[in-house]
Amino acid sequence: MRDGWKTTLTAGARMSLPAGGWATHAGQLCDTDANVVVVEVGDEPAGLPGWVRLRGHGVDCRLDPVCPHPWCLELFVRVEALCDAATER
Ligand SMILES: [Zn+2]
Repeated sequence: MRDGWKTTLTAGARMSLPAGGWATHAGQLCDTDANVVVVEVGDEPAGLPGWVRLRGHGVDCRLDPVCPHPWCLELFVRVEALCDAATER
């Protein structure tokens, strides 16, 4: 695992997650790209080496007109995909 990627991901960072690089909180691998705004990057979930938990908002999340939740998306992301997305900015 490459070091240093986590420090580049601060709250408010906008990330483009590639198809196949992320999964829903239920573990469903997704085959579409996703654009999210990072709230917090968590730890490796138990039993899923190489993945991390990411909480945030969708970039088009505009409820009320600001989303009332601290975060409304919880995803699992491959560390490799996260590294690539982080270094692209
Ligand atoms: Zn939201």
